[in-house]
Amino acid sequence: MTRVFNFSPGPAALPEPVLRQAADEMLDWHGSGMSVMEMSHRGKEFIAIHAEAEALLRKLLAVPAHYKVLFMQGGAIGENAIVPLNMLRGKPSADYVDTGEWSKKSIKEAQKYCAVNVAGSSKDSGYTRVPPRAGWQLDPQAAYVHICSNETIGGVQYHWTPDVGGVPLVADMSSDILSRPIDVSKYGLIYAGAQKNIGPSGVTIVIVRDDLIGHASPHCPSAFDYKMVADNDSMYNTPPTYAIYIAGLVLKWIESQGGLPAMEAHNRKKAAVLYDHLDGTRFYSSAVAREDRSLMNVVFRLPDDKLDEPFLKGAQERGLVQLKGHRSVGGMRASIYNAMPIEGVRALVAYMKEFEGQHG
Ligand code: PMP
Repeated sequence: MTRVFNFSPGPAALPEPVLRQAADEMLDWHGSGMSVMEMSHRGKEFIAIHAEAEALLRKLLAVPAHYKVLFMQGGAIGENAIVPLNMLRGKPSADYVDTGEWSKKSIKEAQKYCAVNVAGSSKDSGYTRVPPRAGWQLDPQAAYVHICSNETIGGVQYHWTPDVGGVPLVADMSSDILSRPIDVSKYGLIYAGAQKNIGPSGVTIVIVRDDLIGHASPHCPSAFDYKMVADNDSMYNTPPTYAIYIAGLVLKWIESQGGLPAMEAHNRKKAAVLYDHLDGTRFYSSAVAREDRSLMNVVFRLPDDKLDEPFLKGAQERGLVQLKGHRSVGGMRASIYNAMPIEGVRALVAYMKEFEGQHG
């Protein structure tokens, strides 16, 4: 068996011990005689798996008691509609901060449901930074303020939590949730697709303050009404059971590594190996403002786009895969979520040096 270093932006690498445990438990989970995939979501076995995953998530993120943790479906793109359907609470507009491709998608979808005030944007910089808070034009009457904490495609990340006064802050944390400690109480709602730091695709995590639920539009599908989901312990409809089980194993792995402070230290160390190399060479370049560089998705370019294909081919031959940048920005992108070991990043830098030696 050969495992590669997988730099995919998502679905992404999972911790190897999690995959091994899942393999061991595939045919018979804890003496039940069943695979988790075969269990009723209403049976005692799965209810225990689900409850443990929720408890671990609450513990790792220190989620306050007056927040609900929901396991939903539809991904973060689904939440782009589900958020306004639940969160407008009779108000006509919401504020959105535009930091790149994922914010743009959120804005476009929200416009189906409400007036969107783009309170801040880094479009002028080519989405290479987070627009400074001082320049945001917030509307105190807005239903909520939406940000994307980490732009997976552009490699731009917030390293601060915006103060938006009394208006609920909503964050798409799909690509940096569980990568560092956060203060959940500063947010009204957090959502994240699972397939980067949580587990396999198919489950979406929503963390929402109690007072913000129970106000869904009459047009909101019941399965996407936060109150309906919360009142039914995320089992109003059949949940993505296997994805929740694997997420639970990932959460246990994070806990065993020392929780989110340890994840952050590990992620900072890994990102520094790559960024230090980028800063020390003229061959590779990164346009992202230093203070807003993502610790999860490191984007960089080669001096000539014609070198992209040979670079990717050589990387693949060395077991370094999924490094091609998103088509909207080009170049390269190394996604280095929690499960990427530092050895993977070191191997990538060694290859980058070798490639520069041949082509520089
Ligand atoms: N937001 C962000 C920040 C993302 O990285 C992604 C997926 N790459 C999405 C939204 C969309 O997620 P999904 O495909 O799960 O709907």
